[in-house]
Amino acid sequence: MTDRKVRVRFAPSPTGPLHMGGVRTALFNYLFAKKHGGDFLLRIEDTDQNRFVPGAEEYIIESLNWCGLHFDEGPGVGGKYGPYRQSERKPLYKQYADQLLESGWAYYAFDTPEELEKLRLEAEQKGEVFSYGIQTRGTLCNSLTLSKEEVLTRLKSGEHFVVRFRMPENTNVIENDIIRGEVTFNTSVLDDKVIYKWDGMPTYHLANVVDDHLMEITHVIRGEEWLSSMPLHVLLYRALGWENTRPRFAHLPLILKPVGKGKLSKRDGDKMGFPVFPLKWIDPETGETFHGYREDGYFPEAFINLMALLGWNPGTEQEFFSLKELVPVFSLERVVKSGSRFDPEKAKWFNRHYFQQKTEQELAELFKPILQEKGVSVSETKLLKVVTEVKERCQFVSELWDQSSYFFVIPESYDAKTIEKRWLAETPGQLTEICGVFETVENWEQSTIKEAFSNFMNSKGWNFGAVMNPFRLCLVGGNVGPDLFKICEILGKEETISRINAAIEKIAK
Ligand code: GLU
Repeated sequence: MTDRKVRVRFAPSPTGPLHMGGVRTALFNYLFAKKHGGDFLLRIEDTDQNRFVPGAEEYIIESLNWCGLHFDEGPGVGGKYGPYRQSERKPLYKQYADQLLESGWAYYAFDTPEELEKLRLEAEQKGEVFSYGIQTRGTLCNSLTLSKEEVLTRLKSGEHFVVRFRMPENTNVIENDIIRGEVTFNTSVLDDKVIYKWDGMPTYHLANVVDDHLMEITHVIRGEEWLSSMPLHVLLYRALGWENTRPRFAHLPLILKPVGKGKLSKRDGDKMGFPVFPLKWIDPETGETFHGYREDGYFPEAFINLMALLGWNPGTEQEFFSLKELVPVFSLERVVKSGSRFDPEKAKWFNRHYFQQKTEQELAELFKPILQEKGVSVSETKLLKVVTEVKERCQFVSELWDQSSYFFVIPESYDAKTIEKRWLAETPGQLTEICGVFETVENWEQSTIKEAFSNFMNSKGWNFGAVMNPFRLCLVGGNVGPDLFKICEILGKEETISRINAAIEKIAK
């Protein structure tokens, strides 16, 4: 296998939006492929038309693109192993179902859904679970129990049938999973899964194995929920005579809820206030909206960094990794077996890091649409100064507005507590005199404003503390913000003076 080019695939079913766990699976596949100079494919597994959700495939592709996980082959991109949507590969699967039927690895079953449902209920009443398999298949309506002629007649008359895989009896399927090590399954506990249906559609299992073979996939890297399908897949490769070229398996650990037990579910995000999906998703049936990392203001770099460390670690203290940096250090051997707990606070922390990494220019660009929405027009110079001042206080672009709105709009109200404590009888007079001093300042910069202010205060013998608070209140409306003289500089002389006068007037009322 070592001489084969590494080829891996991300194979989602378009049954809804891609969950964070799905993105992580795609990411690990991508990293593994890139590290080994291999190919990363996207294959859409849409054999179950009943579960098809409109818009899901587009959502998956847009999510991968947003994350920078560009695939080398797949829908829209092409490739010589296409098509990459299973529904478009439909005619291809029949020969393999036939091969399995001929070799005795599979059989026709004619039991109706009603009959099977009845058996399920009967078993349930006895506290048992019905399973179509070794114990029961000899008593059911299939090509193992019916005569050859009867089977042919039924097939000819167009009766609905399914093809089931014939699980061998009491056989140990031993597989060396790259992440989990040796895993053994005994076939006695496995049922005879449907692999193909009368309408010519294969089910997930057959389509998945056939396609991985035809697409020359070398490694199947997927979520833990597929571990239980591994023995069937291993046996399918064996039955189809593809054992020597079949892929190796690596089952990724679950992503767990931030608190409590169990796997992270799409409802957890709403309950605990963080997104579970990469992009916003509106359920086409119910209209229900789910938050997305992108729309909630996360940078794709932060999201990818966060995903990479869910179940994998570099074996060093390093925590920040770009996608490019992950490629050489990633290995499946460093993926853990146990589930990894998702920490929404850490997600914000990562975003803060990437936010701080951005230049003022980049942040200003990202801030512009928000300003536009607020109806604010501002010069490039002022915008850059504002961003420089408040950057340190933010972790999301949306917070830039919360931290800096007073630079763009005059305070509508003034903090009542500060007024009560700090706005004294002499305050308006003092501030008016200070405005007079400001009028004379020629070079309106933080240092010159401060100098003029301090000289004046000293000459008057006024208490700095007593003046600074009401002064800030006039400009900001509250007790927040960076250095006051920097605020004056950015607002400009005229605006500073006019805000002081406006506040004196309003607070007096
Ligand atoms: N279609 C499966 C899914 O939705 C793929 C599992 C696999 O990778 O084999 O996740």
